[in-house]
Amino acid sequence: MSRRSAYGLGTRRTADWRDLAACTDAEPEDMFPEGKGKDPAVQDARAFCLRCPVIHECLMDAMRAEGAAGKDNRWGVRGSLTGDERAALYRRNPGKWAAYRTRG
Ligand code: SF4
Repeated sequence: MSRRSAYGLGTRRTADWRDLAACTDAEPEDMFPEGKGKDPAVQDARAFCLRCPVIHECLMDAMRAEGAAGKDNRWGVRGSLTGDERAALYRRNPGKWAAYRTRG
């Protein structure tokens, strides 16, 4: 059964890594801060993620879900990276991420 989290509001699913997410009880706006880069709200979200036991799984899930999306189409902080940072991560090795996405 699902639990409330910034990335699973109201969804039904089987148990998985999301059940261990540190942001389970976070308000969505805490993980989707308005600012960019050095904004304190962004830094707070990034720091929050650094304490998360599933930070790797979360980042990989974001990279798979977002595919080749540009920075303006990647929302929120995931795995302690902003949308801009995830877009840059993708651009460094697009072939790797494309292959990862199709492997599922
Ligand atoms: S890494 Fe951050 S956004 Fe991802 S599940 Fe953990 S706390 Fe939530």
